Amino acid sequence: MTHWIENIANELSKMDVEEHVIASGTSISGSIHIGNSCDIFVANGIGKKLREKGKKAKTIWIADDHDPLRKVPYPLPESYDKYLGMPYSMIPCPDGCCANFVEHFEKPLLSVMDDYGIEMETKSGFEMYKSGVYNDYIRTSLERVEEIKEIFNEYRREPLADDWLPYNPICDECGRVNTTYAYDYDGDIIKYRCECGHDGEMDIKSGNGKLTWRV
Ligand SMILES: [Zn+2]
Ligand SMILES: [Zn+2]
Repeated sequence: MTHWIENIANELSKMDVEEHVIASGTSISGSIHIGNSCDIFVANGIGKKLREKGKKAKTIWIADDHDPLRKVPYPLPESYDKYLGMPYSMIPCPDGCCANFVEHFEKPLLSVMDDYGIEMETKSGFEMYKSGVYNDYIRTSLERVEEIKEIFNEYRREPLADDWLPYNPICDECGRVNTTYAYDYDGDIIKYRCECGHDGEMDIKSGNGKLTWRV
């Protein structure tokens, strides 16, 4: 009997591609534990199996560190609720020992990758947005908003508003990313309003925002 990881690798190896890219990702919402690392083990296993079969394959891991903090992780103090809604990448290290929140919670994972035989390229969502890797994808998403909306609406009770855009700017005023609503754009400039009362404009090239989840 073959392991299901092997079945997936067999299936993939029939594809005619130059290189297989197996992607995994983790939200850096606090300590990364065995329970939310499953994605990494599976992606790593599939990548390795493909390489064993002589296929060109790599596994990447994306730290979803541009996502908003949704709840204060244990054992951080209640006072961290002032960062709710802000991207993880903008939150300070809770112990003052690292550059920021992300580095603090990422370190323990990255330091045991070799011990677990995990071979993957690590990437940061935040850095990719900042470097402009996503710019063309953002432009495409804005141009094809009607198609995206149609897909989302199939799974929603309330359809998305007419002016909805698949992009969440980080508010210039309060620093939150889950309280902004982008309603118009002109080229690379996005117009948005925030629940804090701020009405702003931002350039997608600044990386101060992200595509809506799943887009
Ligand atoms: Zn630290
Ligand atoms: Zn705001």
